[in-house]
Amino acid sequence: MEYFDFHHHNRATEKGIYNLSFPELPREGLFSAGIHPQEISSGNESRWKWLHEVSQHPNCVAIGECGLDGRVPDEKVQSEAFSRQTELANDLCKPMIIHCVRRFSHLIPFRKKVRVPMVVHGFSKKQSVAEELRKHDFYLSFGKSVLQNVNLQRLVKDFPTEKMFLETDADEGGIEELYRLVSSVKGISEEALIHQIEKNLQAIMPR
Ligand SMILES: [Zn+2]
Repeated sequence: MEYFDFHHHNRATEKGIYNLSFPELPREGLFSAGIHPQEISSGNESRWKWLHEVSQHPNCVAIGECGLDGRVPDEKVQSEAFSRQTELANDLCKPMIIHCVRRFSHLIPFRKKVRVPMVVHGFSKKQSVAEELRKHDFYLSFGKSVLQNVNLQRLVKDFPTEKMFLETDADEGGIEELYRLVSSVKGISEEALIHQIEKNLQAIMPR
């Protein structure tokens, strides 16, 4: 059985989407590339040049992580940078991996302009936020906070399996434990969960 890690920063992970970070070069496995809101400052042309180059690579299967972060002071610059990356994703027909902190109400309006699938990664907020995102056709990717957070486990239980992914993000450990827990709260087998997540992946992949 192979567990797919939707968003990770660990070069040793074999099956998943590695988050390439500036100024890394394309690699053998699947990767995503974007400019994280915390890395944005105006006039940072070398990062944009890098992103435009690596995002063309066939192994680059998603744009991101990128998004909106309420902790970053310059919201205007941040929002422009995000907008620019949504255009890139539209042009390349590649899905987006979204980082969003306290800015979900700003994120949702982007859904109308973006023609590719959008996946909010590391989701750990309330049920009402998840429902709102779901209604607007976002996918959610859940990380290891599910292991400790009972409310999040309840949310995952009811959240449609066809719209979810699982990830380790910056955690160095494996993802098996997360698959085990999520399959048990959902009352399905691990095989069924792995299979469904593979189908979800095929549904969003660029073609
Ligand atoms: Zn990450």
